[in-house]
Amino acid sequence: MRYYSITNPELQASFKEAAISGIAPDRGLYFPMEIPKLDKEFIDNIENYSNHEIAYKVIKPFVGDEMSDEVLKQVVAETLCFDFPIVEVEEDVASLELYHGPTLAFKDVGARFMSRCLQAFTKEENKNITVLVATSGDTGGAVANGFYGVNGVEVVILYPSGKVSSIQEKQLTTLGGNIRAVEVNGSFDDCQEMVKTAFLDQELKDCNLTSANSINVARWLPQMFYYFFAYKALKGKGKPIVVTVPSGNFGNICAGMLAQRMGLPIAHFVAATNSNDTVPRFMKTQDYKPNKTQETISNAMDVSNPSNFIRIFELFERQYGSLSNVFSSYSFDDMQTKATLKKVYEEREYLLDPHGAVGYLGLTQFMVLHKGYTGVFLETAHPVKFPESIEQTLGIEIPVPEALKPLMTKEKQSVVINTYNELKQYLLE
Ligand SMILES: *Cc1c(COP(=O)(O)O)cnc(C)c1O
Repeated sequence: MRYYSITNPELQASFKEAAISGIAPDRGLYFPMEIPKLDKEFIDNIENYSNHEIAYKVIKPFVGDEMSDEVLKQVVAETLCFDFPIVEVEEDVASLELYHGPTLAFKDVGARFMSRCLQAFTKEENKNITVLVATSGDTGGAVANGFYGVNGVEVVILYPSGKVSSIQEKQLTTLGGNIRAVEVNGSFDDCQEMVKTAFLDQELKDCNLTSANSINVARWLPQMFYYFFAYKALKGKGKPIVVTVPSGNFGNICAGMLAQRMGLPIAHFVAATNSNDTVPRFMKTQDYKPNKTQETISNAMDVSNPSNFIRIFELFERQYGSLSNVFSSYSFDDMQTKATLKKVYEEREYLLDPHGAVGYLGLTQFMVLHKGYTGVFLETAHPVKFPESIEQTLGIEIPVPEALKPLMTKEKQSVVINTYNELKQYLLE
C-alpha cells in the first residue's frame, strides 16, 4: 500500500517509510492511496473468525508486501494478547472494554503493533531511530510499555507536568532503559506542538525521529480492529449499529470510520468530547476554531486541535454533507461526566472511567434523538487509572490491580523543560 501526504498528494511513501518517518516531509499526515474493500463472505461470517484472524485480514492490505505473512501474523498475535469483552450496561447500550492490556489503556493495541513493526523494519534497515511522542496521559504509558527493550529504538516521551494521573505518570517515568520522560511546563497541545517542530528541524536529522502518536499510520490503523470486534458481538441484534468513541485526537474514531468505508456495516459514529469541543462546534457551524485547551477529569481527551480530524475530513472528500450523514459529535462537561459515573454505578452497577462516561453520554444523547439503533461505547481506560475523580464522586475506593502494585513504589525519573530549545538541546546531547 502507498500513502500520500494529505497536504501535498505528490509526497508519497510505502507503509514502511510512513511508519519509520511518522509524518510526511511537509508535516502532512499520511493517508492510504486507496481504501481496500472487504469481501462479503468475511463480513457475513465474521463470527466464525478469531480476533487474530480478523485483525490479520483487516490490516494485511494496508501493510502489503512490506512484511512477510508470517511476521505480520506474529505481530498481530503479540499485539492482541488480551481480551476485548463487551458488557451490556442496559438494553441496547453496551460497553466495549478496551482496557485489559498491559497498561490498562486502549492505546496498548496501537503501541504494541507499531513497536513490533518498527522492530522488524529497523532490523532490516540496520538503523537506530528515536520515537518522540507527546502524551496527554495514556499514550506515554502504552508506548513506554510497548517499546521497552525493543532493539534499535530509543523513546522520548513528553508530557504536561502535573496534568496526568499518578498511575499514568509512574507508567511513563519508571521503566528506564531505552525509555526517557520529559516533563513540559505547559499543556498537551504545547507538547504536541514541540514534537511537530522537532520533526521539521533539520538540525535534528541525525536523530532519525519518528512519532508514536496516532499520526503514525502504524499506530493509527490497528485501531480499526475494535470496530470489527464490536460488530462481531452486536451483529446478532439485527439492528443498525451506532458506535460512540470518547475522542481527543480523533485517531480512534477515524480508524473506525475507515473500517466503515472498507465495508464494515456500522450505521453511525458519535465522537463524544469533554469541554474541549472544537469538533462538536464545527459540526454545528462548519467553522473550525480551536479554543485554548481546558483541563478536565477525562484528561487523555484534553485536546483542542485534534490532529486526526483532517483524516476524517479527507475520508469524506472534504464534503461536510456526506460526513454529517454518518457522523455526529457532542460535548459534555465534568459535572455531567461525574453525574454519569454515579448514575451508571448506582443504577447499573457498572463502573465507568471518566472517558468511558463521556462515551456513554454521547451514546445516550444519540439514542434520545434517534430510535431503533443498538449501540456500543468504547471504554478506553480502566477506572483505577483515575482514582481521584472516581473516589471523590462515588465515595468508593478502587483496589489497585496486582499487576500495577510494583509500579507504585518505583522512583520517577524525568527532566523538566519549558521551551522547544531545551527539548532540542536534550535530544542533541
Ligand atoms: C487517548 C485516549 C482517548 C482519545 O483517543 P483519540 O484517538 O486521541 O481520540 C480517549 N480515552 C483515553 C483513556 C485515552 O487514553
